[in-house]
Amino acid sequence: MTTPTISRDRIKTIAQREAAAFLAARPKSKELAEQTEQHYLFGVPLHWMADWGTPVPLFVERAQGAHFTCVDGHSYSDFCLGDTGAMFGHSPAAVAAKLAEKSTEGYTAMLPTAAAAVAGKALTERFGLPFWQLATTATDANRFVVRWARAITQRKKILVFNGCYHGTIDDVFVDLDPNNPDAPPTTRASLLGQVYDLTQYSDVVEFNDIDAVRAKLVSKEFACVLTEPALTNCGMVMPADGFLKQLRDACNETDTLLVFDETHTISAGYAGYTGLCDFLPDMIVAGKAIAGGLPCAVYGMSAEVAAKMRAAKEAAPPGHSGIGTTLSGNMITMSLLATNLTEVATKEAFEQIIAQQSKLSDGLRAVIARYNLPWNVTQLGARSEFQFCPESPKNGKEAEAAMDAELEQAVHLYLLNRGVMITPFHNMTLVCPDTSDADIEKFLTAFESCVKELII
Ligand code: PMP
Repeated sequence: MTTPTISRDRIKTIAQREAAAFLAARPKSKELAEQTEQHYLFGVPLHWMADWGTPVPLFVERAQGAHFTCVDGHSYSDFCLGDTGAMFGHSPAAVAAKLAEKSTEGYTAMLPTAAAAVAGKALTERFGLPFWQLATTATDANRFVVRWARAITQRKKILVFNGCYHGTIDDVFVDLDPNNPDAPPTTRASLLGQVYDLTQYSDVVEFNDIDAVRAKLVSKEFACVLTEPALTNCGMVMPADGFLKQLRDACNETDTLLVFDETHTISAGYAGYTGLCDFLPDMIVAGKAIAGGLPCAVYGMSAEVAAKMRAAKEAAPPGHSGIGTTLSGNMITMSLLATNLTEVATKEAFEQIIAQQSKLSDGLRAVIARYNLPWNVTQLGARSEFQFCPESPKNGKEAEAAMDAELEQAVHLYLLNRGVMITPFHNMTLVCPDTSDADIEKFLTAFESCVKELII
């Protein structure tokens, strides 16, 4: 069976047709877009909300479990789930009930409540790291971790992997040249308002390249290696067998802290990807879904790192640490974090969502095989990514090379018009405890008919 050709003309024709159909079926979204256009820069509360590739933003009416309804009354099976925030479903029942219960008992007092004790214990039991701190976003948690790492190691540099994303923390936006692996890293050109050269204190190598990691760390200039255990923001890149353990060893040998950002890779299981490893990182970051989709992030640390953090704090003169924000760890957030950890994000919930994602991933693979497409599917527990390359990429460069924005947009719009939403900017699918076999069937049917039309 020969590999089918997908012509650029065909992609364009489908994208145009689907865009027109989207608009025709969504007069209310169009009307709201006309209103928000007048008051929001780019017409939306956040500029990237305009980048979904739909002719006008899709305005949501309400969301529950694995579904949402748009203002025009169409209902969707949601496989984006707020790009992980709603990984346990939209408005998970126990979190919603706690929110209602606590809604009249105060939101923020800059002091802990009894829920802090419950959440702290639950975090330690789950991830295996003994001490925790709060932040409001995963971006902030990463920012704070990097600051702590520099403070306790007295080293300025950090090492990240090409194609990584850890939120809008400045330090990670360094890239390798896709055409020249030997060229020095550069500060990401798309950053707005970046006034200093990030490559002074941030360095970058390809994921799964332990020799490159070792060559950097040997200088003992690096405070930490900050990474997702599997890259999930440039498409998906799984760690090669043994790579993470080698990374752990390389960090140990050079007194470099190893930080796992589990914000997305929490999809791998109850304790994130860390739970699949036979060693612990020095620090862990988690956000987005950790309190059921409400703004909350956490970072944990080993006893050894915690002792060094205490010492650094004591040694510093009194005053601002540069770490923490007023609303982080507020009363209501702590209650929701405790509830989500103990009642929603349970081992059973993970078993269920991983099993459902396996059905979806297998189904997608079957369609790809049936039409002999040079595409592949990589599953990471409850999430998966289909990528426009025959085999799972091994690093950021390969993952970026497999991206095809035009094709991606045509597929996404096609699915959206058939009531299936996946994550924008790449092809991530995530399932939640409410994702049913019917949702998966709906996805696979739409995906297959899209593929059929593309290869005609
Ligand atoms: N870490 C990772 C791995 C992420 O993917 C993201 C966001 N996509 C963040 C951190 C930042 O999360 P937030 O935007 O909620 O700060």
